[in-house]
Order: sequence, then structure tokens, then C-alpha cells
Amino acid sequence: MTKKANIIGAGILGLAYAKALAEKGYEVTVFERSQQAQGSSIRNFGMIWPIGQNSSGYLQRAMRTREIWLEICHKANIWFSNNGSIQILQNELEIELAEQFYQSENKNRDGLSLFNRQQLMEKIPHASPNAVGAIFSNTEMVVESREAIRQIPVYLSANYTINFHFNTAITTCSPGKVATHTGAIFEADICILASGYETQLLYADIFNAAPITISSLNMFRTTPISSNIPSICGGLSFLHYPAYKVCESLPDYNDLCLQQYPALIENGIHLLISQNHTGQLTIGDSHHYGNYHEPFREDNIDDLIMDYMFELIKPETFKISQRWTGQYLKMTNGKGEWFAEIEDGVFLANGPGGAGMTLGWGMAEETIANL
Ligand SMILES: Cc1cc2nc3c(=O)[nH]c(=O)nc-3n(C[C@H](O)[C@H](O)[C@H](O)COP(=O)(O)OP(=O)(O)OC[C@H]3O[C@@H](n4cnc5c(N)ncnc54)[C@H](O)[C@@H]3O)c2cc1C
Repeated sequence: MTKKANIIGAGILGLAYAKALAEKGYEVTVFERSQQAQGSSIRNFGMIWPIGQNSSGYLQRAMRTREIWLEICHKANIWFSNNGSIQILQNELEIELAEQFYQSENKNRDGLSLFNRQQLMEKIPHASPNAVGAIFSNTEMVVESREAIRQIPVYLSANYTINFHFNTAITTCSPGKVATHTGAIFEADICILASGYETQLLYADIFNAAPITISSLNMFRTTPISSNIPSICGGLSFLHYPAYKVCESLPDYNDLCLQQYPALIENGIHLLISQNHTGQLTIGDSHHYGNYHEPFREDNIDDLIMDYMFELIKPETFKISQRWTGQYLKMTNGKGEWFAEIEDGVFLANGPGGAGMTLGWGMAEETIANL
């Protein structure tokens, strides 16, 4: 008899588990309480960012996720760009870190190069006079997440044994079944809880006892610019991603940044910029951690992000066209995956933190293969 799976949440992890389970022969039903996904997965930069992953950690998972994104984007006619990424460097210590990263990682990663200022200017004509060089990597890609995450259900339901129920909140989940807000019961052999950062909705006790926090991020989007650019990050990203732990001078850089950018460090700011198909730039971000976040957005945080951006690039005139806040669940034990059986046949799928778009498809494939 065909096995059945229920999935709660149609963000990237819900979609990834739906696909992985359907490929294993399950008949899958996905429940999303909103009329379309509206959590972390549509509020992000849309970056698939293997450069940030540690080669002794999740780099292979990120590369596999990238491969699946490419396949889905081609098959489902979803826009993507694989322009790669540029990390803009503006002082001697950042150049030193870049060289250490290159020496250690060039053997583990395809398409990694160190650029001088002239090579940087060829990719980013608006690089500021402070920018003295860059790390270029060609493995990063971008999707327009607010469209891609909402197009994928159409593709999955047309090509796999997957049914989607939008506008359907799951109010209880127990071994063998879930109940919706209307009281309808759906039975299945297994259930995947892919409900993202809203930890109070189901299994609150498990979330409350877990080593997790919620990160809240300020994001904004510009009007279109005319040049076509790779995704951008700056020196502060050395402090943000596990990939750079191989750099010996990281502690010195941390000290320098504490002196030079105390407000940026205090607000967890590093710069990321992605460009979508219309030329708009998505810019961020800051990181504030805790299990509760006030709904009021602080403008001065946006100013700090913009000031740092103008140290690195001076794009042509643009306006900010949108501002929003995004949140994601982050593990505080250093792990990037939380896949656990919390009741008989009920599995929780969470934990990639700020890298769910980069790791999601691969995480689902690996954890389902190991079930
Ligand atoms: C601002 C921001 C920028 C980011 N940038 C990037 C990036 O560029 N690259 C990258 O790799 N990662 C990025 N991330 C991280 C990435 O977005 C997340 O790791 C990922 O989206 C988490 O996906 P998810 O499916 O677990 O959660 P979500 O996308 O939040 O999905 C959970 C879904 O479950 C639904 N749901 C919850 N409870 C129920 C219920 N009871 N019944 C029915 N439905 C329910 C919700 O409505 C929601 O749609 C970013 C995150 C943020 C916030």
C-alpha cells in the first residue's frame, strides 16, 4: 500500500521534504496556513550561498542544494541568476584574510579567485574608491524567493504525488494524523513539522526546551539599477560565516571591527546585496536574537547598513522601495540542522538558520535517505 506523509508548512523546508518524500514513493499532503507561503522563505535575499559554508561542514550539502535549485528552475521555468558572488575588501587585514581563505580553500571549491581593484571594477563598476580587491566565487546563485517559493508548489503538484492545502492551519498533530482548523483529520504514516520560526504554534514545549533563538533581520529593496551585478558582501561577512574559520587572522579582524564598527557589531550587521530580474537590489542585514521581538522597526539600523554599503559601493541613484523584517530560527549549539522524531512518526525539520535556501533541498534529501 502507498505510504502517506503530511507536511506542515510550505516554506523551503516543507517543499524540500515534500519532494524528497514523493521521490521515496510517498503520497504527500502539504498544509500551509496562509494563502501562500509568507515566512522566512519569501523574506530573504534568495541567495544560494555555498561560499559561506565550511568545507568540513555543509559545503557539499550546499552544492547539492544548488544543483537541485538549478534543475527545478530549469524545469519549472523559474528565474535565477548564477552570477556568483563578490566579497569586497577595503583594507590590508581583509586582503590578508582573503589570501588565507584562498590558500586553504582553493582545493575544496571550484571557481574561487582573488581579484585586484581593476578586476573588481570590471564586475562592479560602482565599487567605491575604498575597495582595494575582492574574493570572487562563481558558485553562488540567486532566485527571486517571493516568486520561486510560490511557483514551486505548482511544479511539484503537477509532477509528483504531492497535494497542497493552502489557507489551512494545522491545529493539532499526533502520531498518525493531523487536524486542520476546520476539524478535518488527515491520516498519514509520517508527519514533518516544517513550521519555521513560529515556535509557539505546535509542540511549544519542545521548542521552549530546545537550544534555539529567533533572529530578527532588517531588510530593504531598491528601485532597479541598470547594471547587472553579482551578489555582494563585505569584509564584515568574514565574521558571519563558518567558512572563514580557516583564516588565522580572524581574531585580529574581530578586534579591528570592534574598534572600527562597534554599532555594526552590536547590531549583528554585515552587508549582503542580491539583484533580481528587474534590476532591484535586496539589501541587508542586521541580526537581533531572542525568543521575543518587538514589532517596531528601528530606522537607525537601516542607516547603519546603508552607511556601511556606501563604504563599499556607490550605486547610481536609487530609492528604497520596500522595507521589511524577516525572522528565522537559529540553533544556539552551533548546529545547522535539527531533524528529530518528536513523537512516533512525527519529525521536526528545522535549524539551517540563515542558510535554509542554501541547504534546504540537500538537508531533506539526506535526512529522508537516512530515515
Ligand atoms: C531576512 C532573511 C534573509 C535570509 N536570507 C537567506 C538567503 O539569502 N539565503 C539562505 O540560504 N537563507 C536565507 N535566510 C534563511 C532562510 O530564509 C530560512 O532558513 C528558511 O526560509 C527557513 O525555511 P522554513 O521552511 O523552515 O520556514 P518558513 O519559510 O518560515 O516556512 C514555515 C511555513 O510554515 C507555515 N506554518 C507554520 N505553522 C503552521 C501550521 N500550524 N499550519 C500550517 N502552516 C504553518 C508558515 O505559515 C510558513 O509559511 C534568510 C532568512 C531571513 C529571515
